[in-house]
Amino acid sequence: MHTDDQGDVEGTRDVTIITGGDVITMNPARDILKGGAVAMRGTEIVGVGATSDTRRAFPGATELDARGCVITPGLISGHHHLTGDPLVRSCLPDNLDSGTKTFGWSVPLHAQHTPADDEMSAVLSCGESATRGVTTMIEAGTVAHPDRVAAGALRVGTRLGLGTWGWDAPDQPFAYPAREVLARIGAVLDAYPPGGLVTGWVTLVGHDLATEELLVGAADLARSRGVRMTMHMSPGENDSISYLATTGRRPLVYLEDIGVMGDHLLLAHCLYIDDAEIEVLLRTDTAVAWCPWGGLRSGSGVVANTRHAELFQRGLRIGLGCDTVNSGDSVDLLRAGALASGLSKDAYRDAAALVSHDVLEMITIRGARAVGLADRIGSLEVGKRADVVVHDASGWHWTPRGDIVTQLVWSSDGQSVRDVFVDGRMIVRGGECLTVDLNGIREEANRMSVALLARTGIELPHKWPETIAD
Ligand SMILES: [Zn+2]
Repeated sequence: MHTDDQGDVEGTRDVTIITGGDVITMNPARDILKGGAVAMRGTEIVGVGATSDTRRAFPGATELDARGCVITPGLISGHHHLTGDPLVRSCLPDNLDSGTKTFGWSVPLHAQHTPADDEMSAVLSCGESATRGVTTMIEAGTVAHPDRVAAGALRVGTRLGLGTWGWDAPDQPFAYPAREVLARIGAVLDAYPPGGLVTGWVTLVGHDLATEELLVGAADLARSRGVRMTMHMSPGENDSISYLATTGRRPLVYLEDIGVMGDHLLLAHCLYIDDAEIEVLLRTDTAVAWCPWGGLRSGSGVVANTRHAELFQRGLRIGLGCDTVNSGDSVDLLRAGALASGLSKDAYRDAAALVSHDVLEMITIRGARAVGLADRIGSLEVGKRADVVVHDASGWHWTPRGDIVTQLVWSSDGQSVRDVFVDGRMIVRGGECLTVDLNGIREEANRMSVALLARTGIELPHKWPETIAD
């Protein structure tokens, strides 16, 4: 160890230590360090331990006081629409089933999205995510202008898996023949190689909206490029009805038969799956992102059908997703976690079906495994990327302090997030986004929202009369 004239240990002045918080490490032993510290240098975590030991190891380091706070890894949303909805949140009627919502509202809105809309939309969603402790998002396959969405995510500074709109369904916006869809996705993979904050994914819309040629081509592309693939499947009964009619097999059985399933693939939803499909998921090591709020808000029969707790307990790589704001998934993975736990307990009539510690795994380390990033994120361990969230635990809902994980999931939510680091960069401080000023973009966002609704021909469906009364 070399010490310079000022008594500084070489190279520790560029270290930041978050001190004195209760650190939920999510390491293999699931250690919780009360009054612990996390040290970061550059993009990496370089120390996790007792505050006194960490201070000694990194003298002269900058400190962030987190006494009374809870510190977790950055949270991971495995299914997250960055465009379409964020500009029209709470503009869709609250009584739509998921089919009407998708084809009557969401697809027409997406079709009218300009490149500037895509970027603003991504800024809004990533900014909200950041301030709720969600540091990694996997885009859901409905991006028309990926470069603008990447620009939006990079403005905020969040981590993003990004593809482009992928379907070859006839007579739909952004639909192209399979070969063209794959070429467009390939261009995103070229532009955003693995390792960056924004990385390319093979994204299809999924459901029954792709030909066999596109499905197989997409899986081959993901495997040959060593990247991940995602698409929607079976959030309701429609997909299984459609696949049975056209292929004679349920969706996941068919997808296994044509070679699409595998550890490169992350499927969103998987609410309506049967025993055979559960075995397909486990056998092929295909990952799942469950979005519990979306199904619930659309009245999709979540409690009657969810098997996600079973998938978790059997070791599947399963995480949670925030889906879209109009599907009821506020961008808040702690709320989604509490809901996932409660729904599972009720579905199985078993309070042990999926507990708070399980859902915290799903939004951290198990979620990282689901999106193929467990070697980089999902836990607070030396050598991992410094994606760290500091939760203010000084409020009424944290007093007195009980089991920290139970209290974090059931008593708290993303609104208690105080500070957020992604790749070692502080992007939220005191609950405010440091990288994008919301006050500076609010007016423009409102203007773009009104214009988008007008182009789509949608009028705000106020159920109760609203009048100007200033
Ligand atoms: Zn979706």
